Amino acid sequence: MVVAKAWVLKKHFDGFPKTSDFDLKKIELPNLKDGGEQKLLLESVFLSVDPYMRPYSRRVMKEGDVMIGTQVARIVESKNPAFAVGAFVVGDRGWRTHFISDGKDLQLLPSSWPESLPKSLALGTVGMPGLTAYFGLLEVCKMKPGEIVLVNAAAGAVGSVVGQLAKIGGCKVVGCAGSDDKVAYLKKIGFDEAFNYKTVNSLDEALRKASPDGYDCFFDNVGGEFASVAINQMKKYGRIAVCGAISQYNDSVPQKGPYVQMPMIFRELQMEGFLVSRWKNRWEEGLQALLKWVMEGKVKCHEKVTEGFENMPMAFIGMLKGENLGKAVVKV
Ligand code: NDP
Repeated sequence: MVVAKAWVLKKHFDGFPKTSDFDLKKIELPNLKDGGEQKLLLESVFLSVDPYMRPYSRRVMKEGDVMIGTQVARIVESKNPAFAVGAFVVGDRGWRTHFISDGKDLQLLPSSWPESLPKSLALGTVGMPGLTAYFGLLEVCKMKPGEIVLVNAAAGAVGSVVGQLAKIGGCKVVGCAGSDDKVAYLKKIGFDEAFNYKTVNSLDEALRKASPDGYDCFFDNVGGEFASVAINQMKKYGRIAVCGAISQYNDSVPQKGPYVQMPMIFRELQMEGFLVSRWKNRWEEGLQALLKWVMEGKVKCHEKVTEGFENMPMAFIGMLKGENLGKAVVKV
């Protein structure tokens, strides 16, 4: 019998998450059976920590539930011929070291996944965050060659892919992030302009300097004040993809405007919220495109890897504070 370790939400987050909001539990797993649902035993190899866990915990979890999240896992025992022992899959089974599955909720890594490529990228650039950048830019921003694209939280999992895909698409890219090291990284991976939003005297001036003509597309990961300032620098008929609002996730009291209607009207803007799950039926297309660009060296990947399952809460909190460059993952 295998005993899994799992992190549960002890107490709903109030403001910024704390390590005391989590509890480490042990769960005895049943032995596999030939019939029924207990066909596969898996061990998590990499676990993802993502911003959505903060707002979604309130919406979909109750206290005592295992924290939500995805993992790259290895098949340890199999009574399902579709999954060989040793194969790697992406699962959606939360913060646990081991779990049982019938296989229906698992995605095998693409068969073309090269041996040299870290499997953790299936949680980042060649996974849900990369797909968010891909569909958000193509389907929501509808970027066209020659346009100017703005992205915030640009050195993170989604933002760093947004900037690089916009360059592949023939756009000029402006990004901002919360440290000088992150800004240097953005320039290294091809952003045309980048600045540290925490140290500029005026966000308005920094955005104007980076693109005096304004912005055609704004891929917004942050919301709040940044979005309020940026919306006034959109070009006529500009498109805003509302992907995330990380500056608001930890607010106990909702922030108040400025409000968006006036610039929306006079610049005739389109602003659309989206969830990447909308394109679930096209994930294969997106993953193949991302994998190809990564293998060709056209999309560079960076990860902040935290070692040890016991450090999951710390890795999650660190990511919310901006300690990650690229995708934040935990190696079990
Ligand atoms: P990141 O890897 O970008 O990590 C989060 C980053 O957010 C931090 O590193 C930090 O970078 C930045 N940040 C934290 N607090 C603030 C703040 N108050 N103001 C500005 N920046 C802040 O995460 P992801 O790439 O995974 O996610 C980025 C956004 O995309 C999130 O809002 C997330 O919820 C959203 N998302 C939406 C999806 C969808 O389907 N709509 C799917 C996936 C993600 P810095 O040092 O630059 O401040």
